[in-house]
Amino acid sequence: MCGILGVVAVGPVNQLLYDGLMVLQHRGQDAAGIATSRDNAFFMHKGRGMVRDVFRTRNMRALPGNMGIAHCRYPTAGSHSDSAESQPFYVNSPFGLVLAHNGNLTNTTQLQERMFHQDLRHINTNSDSEVLLNVLAHELQELAKGVQLDVDTIFTAVSGVFRRCKGAYAVVVMIAGYGMLAFRDPFGIRPIVVGVNETDAGKEYLVASESVALDTLGFSVLRDLAPGEALFVDMERRLHFRQCADKPLLAPCIFEYVYLARPDSVIDGVSVYEARLLMGERLADKVVKQIPVEDIDVVIPIPDSSRPSAMQLAQRLGLPYREGFVRNRYIGRTFIMPGQAVRKQSVRQKLNTVAQEFKGKRVLLVDDSIVRGTTSREIVEMARAAGAHKVYFASAAPPVRYPNVYGIDMPTRSELIASGKSESEIAREIGADALVFQDLESLKAAVRGANPGLMQFDCSCFDGIYVTGDVTEEYLDSVEKQRTGNTDAPIADEGDSRQLALNLDMDN
Ligand code: 5GP
Ligand code: MG
Repeated sequence: MCGILGVVAVGPVNQLLYDGLMVLQHRGQDAAGIATSRDNAFFMHKGRGMVRDVFRTRNMRALPGNMGIAHCRYPTAGSHSDSAESQPFYVNSPFGLVLAHNGNLTNTTQLQERMFHQDLRHINTNSDSEVLLNVLAHELQELAKGVQLDVDTIFTAVSGVFRRCKGAYAVVVMIAGYGMLAFRDPFGIRPIVVGVNETDAGKEYLVASESVALDTLGFSVLRDLAPGEALFVDMERRLHFRQCADKPLLAPCIFEYVYLARPDSVIDGVSVYEARLLMGERLADKVVKQIPVEDIDVVIPIPDSSRPSAMQLAQRLGLPYREGFVRNRYIGRTFIMPGQAVRKQSVRQKLNTVAQEFKGKRVLLVDDSIVRGTTSREIVEMARAAGAHKVYFASAAPPVRYPNVYGIDMPTRSELIASGKSESEIAREIGADALVFQDLESLKAAVRGANPGLMQFDCSCFDGIYVTGDVTEEYLDSVEKQRTGNTDAPIADEGDSRQLALNLDMDN
């Protein structure tokens, strides 16, 4: 999962993109990058780390121009934490193109092969985003007659990208001297929203992964891009929209509502906050079927993403809602020293218990989801250490049983605690006295409750049904092998640092 931004403004965009990235930081803390354009030239700065660490004043000064795109990265399936894979990516032919991508392509290998043998394009990294950029460049090259590019040609090239690229992709691209292009894959798996700002000098347009970026930057929401839709903003800041897919079908990733997005964002007409409240309500109804309410003394959220659900659940059950865990917001960088047991410590550094909320009580802990189970196990242990008599656990999402291939970093079954396990086995593993999972139908109903117009979702990590229809066992095996068979890096260290990053970065 990543965050993307793109803007065509009346004045310089560097600060605007930086500020936008800061509110999309929760979507990726691994790397960040900004590219701007002035007089047909591109300027770019990118690197590993959080936004505030990647950009210094001198970097910002070197990003002039009124048009730009930005990206923050969370490592996804197939990508390794390599600085060469930071985005945006650039190609210089047939036009100057820079691209930022959120999602994951599922036919990268096939595309790479064709690049090499037919399209005669060199791909320099393992990144699917570089492949995507080169597919777009190739389509433009095939279509562009002479040196002038028109809007029709751009949209036809996007249709070509849709035919060739499978998987999830929300994308922004700058075309040097022409304008900014944005498009969303034919299933609309990853979000992208368009905003407008009226100024004395005319309108400015911004696209972003989440509406929170629009709010913060003073833009108002025009609308979400539809699945298969492309938007082009030309140098005169005129808007062009076109449906470029043959059979678009909206099936947004349901995990955006569970965990990924900020609660103050609205995605495809759904207030993430409202969806989470409704998840809590539904979860409450499931809890009473498994645990007598009189056996629960208090409901405690696991900060921060579960708060709306936990609050609403407590209210529906008529139980007190208390803060039992306090988060340290100021955890800095942790240096990975070989041989240190940093993994376990990291959760303890991040969360501490308020003793009196646990001592002698039967507590119901509520989290948004259980993915790997490592933090959940730790948290149950902490609750007991603080004196809880019983520790019940409820998850606002169903068990994550299947890998995600659409851009969330859960690509292998072996990493998922729920893969191949029953709910009681999972409860035993995390050490809870009882464990309640939301049903998938209830989760869907909760999100739909915030926008009844949403008919379908990508729920693949819960039900193993992959909407793009091309995800085979062989593909899943190959992702798994790629992940575990990366022998050119010190496995133990990298594994630790990845896990550590996961623990430290949870929630925003
Ligand atoms: P687990 O018990 O699986 O170790 O941790 C579950 C917690 O991780 C939940 O609180 C959830 O908010 C968080 N979480 C869920 N998905 C992700 C993810 O993709 N990345 C990170 N960093 N945290 C996640
Ligand atoms: Mg959490």
